[in-house]
Amino acid sequence: MSRKPTRPPLPKGSPDWLAAGMGHIWLPYTQMAVEDPPLAVVGAEGVRIRLADGRELLDGMASWWTACHGYNHPRITAAIRDQAERLSHVMFGGLAHEPALALARRLAHIAPGDLAHVFFSDSGSVAVEVALKMALQYWVNRGERGRARFLCFAHGYHGDTFGAMAVSDAEHGFHRVFADALAANLTVDLPRDKPSLAAYRETLDSQGDTIAGVIVEPLVQGAGGMLFHDAQVLGLVVAEAQSRGIPVIADEVFTGFGRLGHLLASDAAGVVPDILCLSKALTGGALGLGATIARPHIFEAFSGPDLAAAFMHGPTFMANPIACAAANASLDLFDSEPRVAQAARMEGLLEAGLHPCRSLPGVLDVRTMGALGVVELDDLPFERLIALRRAFIEGGLWVRPFGRIVYVTPALVMEESDVEHLCNGVCLGLRGN
Ligand SMILES: *Cc1c(COP(=O)(O)O)cnc(C)c1O
Repeated sequence: MSRKPTRPPLPKGSPDWLAAGMGHIWLPYTQMAVEDPPLAVVGAEGVRIRLADGRELLDGMASWWTACHGYNHPRITAAIRDQAERLSHVMFGGLAHEPALALARRLAHIAPGDLAHVFFSDSGSVAVEVALKMALQYWVNRGERGRARFLCFAHGYHGDTFGAMAVSDAEHGFHRVFADALAANLTVDLPRDKPSLAAYRETLDSQGDTIAGVIVEPLVQGAGGMLFHDAQVLGLVVAEAQSRGIPVIADEVFTGFGRLGHLLASDAAGVVPDILCLSKALTGGALGLGATIARPHIFEAFSGPDLAAAFMHGPTFMANPIACAAANASLDLFDSEPRVAQAARMEGLLEAGLHPCRSLPGVLDVRTMGALGVVELDDLPFERLIALRRAFIEGGLWVRPFGRIVYVTPALVMEESDVEHLCNGVCLGLRGN
């Protein structure tokens, strides 16, 4: 019988609720037997997180890239409060409400080209599941059987549910443990050079008639390692698939809403994917919401007299009115404030601030795009990862490295002096560890 591991002790002065609840909570992607317990948070405002012990951390993560206007933005909070007093939720089957329909119209307006038909869900993973099912049923409705696979890219990450895991890179990614249970899709390298472009074309030519769609994260592969590609590569991915009639799914769950210095990353390449997935910063980071947006030729393949041609999906909390109200308030802020320009401007600040890391031992690469700054190390063993995380917290920063990557994705509104402070702290932490 294995001994029950003793969990690391909570820091002195931890609130009672933390001590009482830790025996019952199960944390994400965490080896709870050895990793430090979570920090107790009592509030967050702007770009700062307030801890129960009175400390404040400058936030370099925007909570997994969601809080693009900073935490607790008064306009979003007011929209949530107002909506909650009128209608918290109502089922979306057979009933509709203004927050969702107004948001659908606005998302269609900001999405590239003729992307126009919005299906709501409650998270990024489910937005991806919905996109995959749309592509699969699109072919079935057109009477073409045998298109049951997706083409996806090495180092891709599309979420933690089964369909999303199956189009993520199991070999390099987080999901290796589940590999045997995942649908078999085709994984190829992004077409960055002649050989990889030839391989991509060859796969589309030889197996294209078994492929329901191609799924890609435009410009930056996020959780798969913060790997960049340029607009030309994205243009090739999209053009090669679309010229063969294969729908392209753009997963902009990470890249959407200004993060890379464009409202959407697809805009940077001038491409119009057939299906677009949004989530994360969609509500300004306040609530979970996903949106999957399709072009008319996809949508129209589902409409007609055949009842069985209707799209077969419907999450219980889809189009939650409070989440939609938060998203509408967030879009108001994108309209009324220079958010995308702020993100574009941050690239220079991050580049200047992180540049000194380039000369540190063990640093392979420093790269920035919009409001994303990445320091890639040649190796980050577990002990050093834990030490780095601690060092950042002790330095008053919330930065959480993963894999071999130390990255910052600040709120797009972070002021210049805070960006400098954040970058200095990252360099200092890496130098000391
Ligand atoms: C985070 C992420 C997802 C999954 O979103 P969840 O809301 O965590 O389910 C999917 N795709 C990309 C690109 C992401 O960054």
